[in-house]
Amino acid sequence: MPMRLSHRTTLRLATSFALVTAPAATTVAQSSTPSGAHWYRGNTHTHTIASDGNAPVLDVARWYKTHAYAFVVITDHELVTAVDPVNAQLAEAGKFLVLRGQEITQKVVDSAAQDGRRQAHVVAIGIGQPILPLGDNGNATGTAMEAVYARNLSAVKAAGGIAQVNHPNFRWSVREADLLNVPDSTLYEVWNGHPWVNNLGGVDEKGRVAPSAEALWDSLLSRGKVLLGVATDDAHEYQQAAFEDPLATHPGRAWIMVRADTLTAPALMSSIGRGEFYASTGVTLSDYRATRSKIELTIAPPSRPEDVRRYHTQFIGRGGKVLADVYGRAASYAIGGNEGYVRATITDSNGLQAWTQPMFVK
Ligand SMILES: [Zn+2]
Ligand SMILES: [Zn+2]
Repeated sequence: MPMRLSHRTTLRLATSFALVTAPAATTVAQSSTPSGAHWYRGNTHTHTIASDGNAPVLDVARWYKTHAYAFVVITDHELVTAVDPVNAQLAEAGKFLVLRGQEITQKVVDSAAQDGRRQAHVVAIGIGQPILPLGDNGNATGTAMEAVYARNLSAVKAAGGIAQVNHPNFRWSVREADLLNVPDSTLYEVWNGHPWVNNLGGVDEKGRVAPSAEALWDSLLSRGKVLLGVATDDAHEYQQAAFEDPLATHPGRAWIMVRADTLTAPALMSSIGRGEFYASTGVTLSDYRATRSKIELTIAPPSRPEDVRRYHTQFIGRGGKVLADVYGRAASYAIGGNEGYVRATITDSNGLQAWTQPMFVK
């Protein structure tokens, strides 16, 4: 979906994201499409006791497996936690898989920042060896955010991984200028489930505005940066009490739905790298199609008859402009050609959302 619209890509767009058939809105780990491909639910940002999580990797993986996820990427800080022993116990063909990853916990010393430093964390999906951040304890000095992102993202690529820019508003750290040189198809957390990351942005007492992660995404897209929006857990706490504490970092808050032919690491990595996924905090799509002239989507119905939630789809283009508001479970948008890009954000009447990837219009 991030592909630029052209004659060459139109057919691929039309078929690659078409006809998702999910049985119901109850979130399922995996569902099939008529083309034989599948939708796999997964989380690309999760911690274990190997860094600052509070459960062993086997328990973390088991939590995801038993809560309707098809895959999880383990992303401990500065460590590539071994997942082969976990897969030996929990992996199931077509049903569940654990992938390797790491969070590169980069900070940049900046005397003008509130904390004297800014946070430039990046998740690396699918790498084999840890990538250490620059500086003592990951505190880079004498360099700019833009430069450390460039260094870390190219290190992830060189290691065969996929890079994901994390929680831009954590400690109010990331600004538009910091991300102008990130490579196309970098993942970007439009929603991070950690309860202290300020997804919605804010204004400080001096009137300085930090846009929401979604608005910053639109700013970057408007400048031609092809960033792919992901939603992640960034989970650290797995005990029952965490689910009763709104400030706890429990799993299950946000995920991506990836369309792939098979549930293998190469197939998932390939689909994620091409943007064949959408992000969600609870809205499930049962169909998504995009052609040169039109984007159409259908939202899966609630699974219980007494659940009468309503849906609002906004098609969004250059400058974050709302191109169309559509209500109900079916939404479509006819592309005019001057939008710059078109993406959709779907919000239900209980606040759950989904975000599709931008489609660039030339
Ligand atoms: Zn982080
Ligand atoms: Zn994290």
